[in-house]
Amino acid sequence: MSAERPTRVLAVSNQKGGVGKTTTAINLGTALAAIGERVLIVDMDPQGNASTGLGVPRETRRVTIYDVIVDGRAVDDAAVATAVPGLSIIPADADMSGIEIELANADRRSYRLRDALAKQGQGGPQGGGHTRYDYVLIDCPPSLNLLTLNAMAAADAVLVPLQCEFFALEGLSQLMRTIDMVKRSLNPALEIQGLVLTMFDRRNALSGQVANDVRAHFGDKVYEAVIPRNVRVSEAPSFGKPALIYDLKCAGSQAYLKLAREVVSRERRRRQAA
Ligand code: ADP
Ligand code: MG
Repeated sequence: MSAERPTRVLAVSNQKGGVGKTTTAINLGTALAAIGERVLIVDMDPQGNASTGLGVPRETRRVTIYDVIVDGRAVDDAAVATAVPGLSIIPADADMSGIEIELANADRRSYRLRDALAKQGQGGPQGGGHTRYDYVLIDCPPSLNLLTLNAMAAADAVLVPLQCEFFALEGLSQLMRTIDMVKRSLNPALEIQGLVLTMFDRRNALSGQVANDVRAHFGDKVYEAVIPRNVRVSEAPSFGKPALIYDLKCAGSQAYLKLAREVVSRERRRRQAA
């Protein structure tokens, strides 16, 4: 059934660092795979934290997202399977930091990822034999650079993790301006899939207040699932495992499962409305 629907590309993005982008990409990706979706994570951050957190050590990263974006390597050459069935990742490495210079005069420099994913979706010149994905999740770097633009130009929608702390809304207005700019210039169809509150601490009054403010501003764009601050979630990457594999029962893993179900049901409703 799912073979008939097109791949949905979601950019996990927020220009603020440390808000839970990588954690969300890893664990939402794992949760989507756990409920039967075929998922590809694209690690677009030169820090390569998503790659490490999914158990792809640096020395094994032969073909990276850099090769896809700069050299036009096929997505299928770069994607590696993870220990999670149904979840693959295109790893990143520090060599990406020079990408702005390398692509300074390149053709369609902001569309390199979009073009690569489009070729993959068509199954290549021979057709068939390629892994089809239901979801591609792009883990964006915490800045507005060419990598982020490539992610937003390639995406159908943005998924925004928001840390429940005082400056959350401030960073958000900057992100909304970026999304508007991308819609005007690179990708008019770009939508916001939703906003997810992360690192929620129910013992901290500020956390609740920020959550209320965000819901007042963005209404039902905010997912019902709220990701709690959870030590199991922060420990998991040092074992090269998603939280859902490290400790499926912990509150963080369960929240990411709930988020995955919401993401899928939003997509289902969107398709029905279309
Ligand atoms: P970003 O990719 O936006 O920079 P990360 O996902 O790397 O953010 O998260 C920043 C830090 O917060 C990391 O150390 C991560 O382990 C931790 N963290 C993220 N989400 C949670 C959570 N739900 N509970 C506890 N720690 C978290
Ligand atoms: Mg990150």
